[in-house]
Amino acid sequence: MTIVAVIPEPNSPVELREVQTPELEENSALLDVELSEVCGTDVYLQKGLLQGVPYPLVPGHVSVGRLSKIRGKLFDVDGREFREGDRVTFLDVHRTCNACWYCLVAKATTRCPQRKVYGITYGLDDGLCGGWAEQVYLKPGTRCIRLDAEPELFMAGGCALPTALHAVERGDIAFGDVVLVLGSGPVGINAIILSLMRGAGRVLCVGAPDFRLKAASRAGASDVLNFEEHDEQKRLAWVLQHTSGRGADVIIEATGAPDAVVQAMRFARDAGRVVVVGQYTDHGPVSAEAAFNPHLDLNKKHLDVRGCWGSDFSHFYRAAQIVSNPEQSKPWEALKGGLARYELANANEALADVAAGRVLKALIDPKS
Ligand SMILES: [Zn+2]
Ligand SMILES: [Zn+2]
Repeated sequence: MTIVAVIPEPNSPVELREVQTPELEENSALLDVELSEVCGTDVYLQKGLLQGVPYPLVPGHVSVGRLSKIRGKLFDVDGREFREGDRVTFLDVHRTCNACWYCLVAKATTRCPQRKVYGITYGLDDGLCGGWAEQVYLKPGTRCIRLDAEPELFMAGGCALPTALHAVERGDIAFGDVVLVLGSGPVGINAIILSLMRGAGRVLCVGAPDFRLKAASRAGASDVLNFEEHDEQKRLAWVLQHTSGRGADVIIEATGAPDAVVQAMRFARDAGRVVVVGQYTDHGPVSAEAAFNPHLDLNKKHLDVRGCWGSDFSHFYRAAQIVSNPEQSKPWEALKGGLARYELANANEALADVAAGRVLKALIDPKS
């Protein structure tokens, strides 16, 4: 038997359940969870805001643990066989088909209609498929990634690390670029670190509250601005003041607020790039006040606006590589102090703290 934390249906509190440990299929494994994360997506899952989610659901789409039982054979991408006891994370996306139009022609596997996501579109009826549990069942075909780092270090980035890595990749940051990150949540903080690694000259950050902006500064942002204390005009003036009057070369929107997408375009320099990564959940259209003007805000500026949805294996793989490198992983070492741990029984508290933005990063520790 194993203990899992379950969202029974939208808008219901999380409850603990005891479920049968599954029979392992050929080439599958059981993972003893060391840490799993609580992110903004989990808050939206609890509120029922994501489409195609089967409840009851065990949340927790990014986790780290040890392979406790393997049936058959599992290999990493280097062809090395996994052994019981190995520490791994795994790509939360499963069943990408490599046979459909999106996989083969568009080469956009995040848009594959066959894909399922552990902790999001796999429910409890599909098995032990979420990380807020003592164990996760890694179905055949799940892509495990060896982790030569402490679980805290990888989870200091959590799902925000591959997400931000994807966004920075989409941003095509050039050496010396001034990058503006909108949002100081986990994706924003990771985007600051990765933009600098990618060669940005400076990174500016507009976010809130102040303790998150302090984390943004520690992560390497040269200047930060609290958006709660400055309206859009003041924010724009601040951005222009820090970019020789031009606007930022690359903007990464990581806020979750639809109006921020329009502001991102206004804060970009002419012929700059905007990456929209903060709208994974449908937060509705921009407000009437945002008054998006296609001519002024987009076309005349000759902007390149790019959506960035989900992550693929390469983003998880590169994330694991970075945190497994003692030199490159230092910025995440510095973030470890901001981790808040919760036992399975306190998952509701974790969700409430994430929803209210009281913690930098919340983790479920099923062993505590
Ligand atoms: Zn997440
Ligand atoms: Zn496909």
